[in-house]
Amino acid sequence: MTGRLENKVAIITGAAMGLGAADATLFAKEGAKVILTDVAADKGQELADKIGATFMQQDVTDEERWKEIISDTVNLHGKLDVLVNNAGIVEVGDPENQTTEEYRKTMAVHMDSTFFGCKYSIPVMAESGGGSIVNMCSIASVQGESYVAAYCAAKGAIEAYTRAVAVHCGLKKNGVRCNSIHPSGIITPMVESVPEKMEAKFGGAPNQDAPASKQGEPNDIAYAALYLASDESKFMNGAQLRVDNAMSVASGSMPE
Ligand code: NAD
Repeated sequence: MTGRLENKVAIITGAAMGLGAADATLFAKEGAKVILTDVAADKGQELADKIGATFMQQDVTDEERWKEIISDTVNLHGKLDVLVNNAGIVEVGDPENQTTEEYRKTMAVHMDSTFFGCKYSIPVMAESGGGSIVNMCSIASVQGESYVAAYCAAKGAIEAYTRAVAVHCGLKKNGVRCNSIHPSGIITPMVESVPEKMEAKFGGAPNQDAPASKQGEPNDIAYAALYLASDESKFMNGAQLRVDNAMSVASGSMPE
């Protein structure tokens, strides 16, 4: 099937590479008018040109830039239907050696950005009858991944915030839905960077499953995002969609 996002206008943050790039590519293929945003301007622009989309440079921790991105999107396409809060970083550190700077940066890139994105997109989506916000979470929101402690905190906060946004919009009957996706072990630049960062901080991998022990591909997540972005999921609001090949529910050995 194609055209699952026909007539939809979608902003995807952190779309220059990894999961955001896969979302952007699939959304454009399914008929959406896509706005890719990222701090990485060259890669973002290159992908936007390739898939027939628009690139806007954005640091998602900058509140003023969020207002500009959303108003520039409405000026360009007349409305906003979908926001994927996807941009992210991983700073390796356990509860004792994670630095305050790493903790604050992690919370800012993940949670502050989700707060700004929801805050400024809800009224704009509501104006045209509704929309879908997809927050990229992680199984780190439900599992204790001690070697990325601040990352767990940020993802836990995003999961909780997603529910608050969903209920708020439901009570307002504004047509806006908000759900979270919880991936694990999808090979992207972020996941590939983890072993080296662990070596630097811990002198090797701690005795715990590494994020890349089971591997998926970016489109495994992009199809989940596509479903949540489309009207096919019109009855989904406040849900946590785990896309992790049973990683977060397994006790003991995992299927290969
Ligand atoms: P990635 O590193 O491949 O891509 C992240 C993108 O975000 C990059 O393009 C980067 O430039 C951008 N970015 C970073 N900081 C930014 C900022 N301040 N402003 C704007 N853009 C910024 O990572 P990924 O694996 O594709 O992760 C995407 C999302 O999925 C993240 O929120 C991540 O936490 C989440 N996630 C990924 C996995 C996985 O297995 N890959 C698992 C769980 C959750």
